[in-house]
Amino acid sequence: MEKDQIRSNQALVEQGKQVVMNTYGRLPIALVRGQGATVWDADGRSYLDFLAGIAVNALGHCHPQVVAALQAQAAELIHVSNLYWIEPQVKLAQLLVDHSFADKVFFCNSGAEANEGAIKLARKYAKKTWGPNKYEIITMEKSFHGRTLATITATAQPKYQKDFDPLPAGFRYVPFGDLAALESAIGPQTCAILVEPVQGEGGVNIADQAYWQGVQKLAAEKQVLLIFDEVQTGFGRTGKLFAYENFGVQPQIMTLAKALGGGAPIGALLATDEVANAFQPGDHATTFGGNPLVTAAGLAVMNVLVNEGLLAHTEKIGAYFRSKLEDLAARFSLIREVRGLGLMLACELDRDGAPIVAACLEKGLIINCTAGSVLRFVPPLIISEADVDQAVAILEQVLTEAGA
Ligand SMILES: *Cc1c(COP(=O)(O)O)cnc(C)c1O
Repeated sequence: MEKDQIRSNQALVEQGKQVVMNTYGRLPIALVRGQGATVWDADGRSYLDFLAGIAVNALGHCHPQVVAALQAQAAELIHVSNLYWIEPQVKLAQLLVDHSFADKVFFCNSGAEANEGAIKLARKYAKKTWGPNKYEIITMEKSFHGRTLATITATAQPKYQKDFDPLPAGFRYVPFGDLAALESAIGPQTCAILVEPVQGEGGVNIADQAYWQGVQKLAAEKQVLLIFDEVQTGFGRTGKLFAYENFGVQPQIMTLAKALGGGAPIGALLATDEVANAFQPGDHATTFGGNPLVTAAGLAVMNVLVNEGLLAHTEKIGAYFRSKLEDLAARFSLIREVRGLGLMLACELDRDGAPIVAACLEKGLIINCTAGSVLRFVPPLIISEADVDQAVAILEQVLTEAGA
């Protein structure tokens, strides 16, 4: 096939509509190249990327150390299966253990799969430790945990569940940030609380330190495991390596994915020894999980994150970006609230955000809208003040044209 014939936005959009299942509301461009915080479409237009593949490309596009690690590993060994020990998998597990509360790691391929593993591990541990009727998982309204059947059930939003019933049993929902509701929902059947430290998909929702301390205390008192879904908040996104560090609490189980592989598809389930020991050979498995290629990418990402001062940079640039968004909020009444942590920031609007996202794209800025009216900003952690200034200038133009 002639590469140049097909490589235009229009050609790829048209062909894609013919052969790719219609599950995404895609914008009408095809992205074909990236470098740092910039991506190019098939027509050669460049964009400032403040979405980063939905909080995946924390180091930006094609970070030289990630590229080098993938190239070297691809030439050495791509896949062998988990019937054998895998060098980069062991090394990545060691780094994750060294830099978190956890003692053991299980590797999988996505966030949903990590949460599936967490649900299985929590149930097995609880049954073994506390008795056969401890199976229920409490999750939060407006949460997001993935798209498999168990994880759409954990995701307490009807729009993700509609038409896919019957759903697995054993989940109960409470409002996020409401300690009293959580306390009254916990019963003798409850085995775990599954919660995002900052709700991502649900609109970048934050709870305060007192809430998290209360959640941890409740979990300990009532013999309930605490599972943090850090699929989106992990790997420096909130200015700490893991978001739980912001609140002075620790879970017993944590799930990771998105930024872990710098774009290579990898997820992970982490736990304390006490809990992880509930899994025995045969209890849980996946063919691709933690294969040499993706764990080599994960190793490169972890090394850059912990050795190159990126966490301090994220905190600083996040505060700068936030102050610029607050300036915009003071001038444009359509912005109801600015919120977030580190470089996980959002502007809640008084209207549908989709037209704003489309107008920003037109002007060369990629952002995203979630929960209908929330503009979400999860740029690469490596962005500069100049990148922020450029993004804010485009946003300002778009808001001016929106007439608010
Ligand atoms: C994206 C996300 C998931 C799902 O991850 P996938 O890799 O798409 O399966 C789960 N939890 C949270 C908090 C997420 O942001």
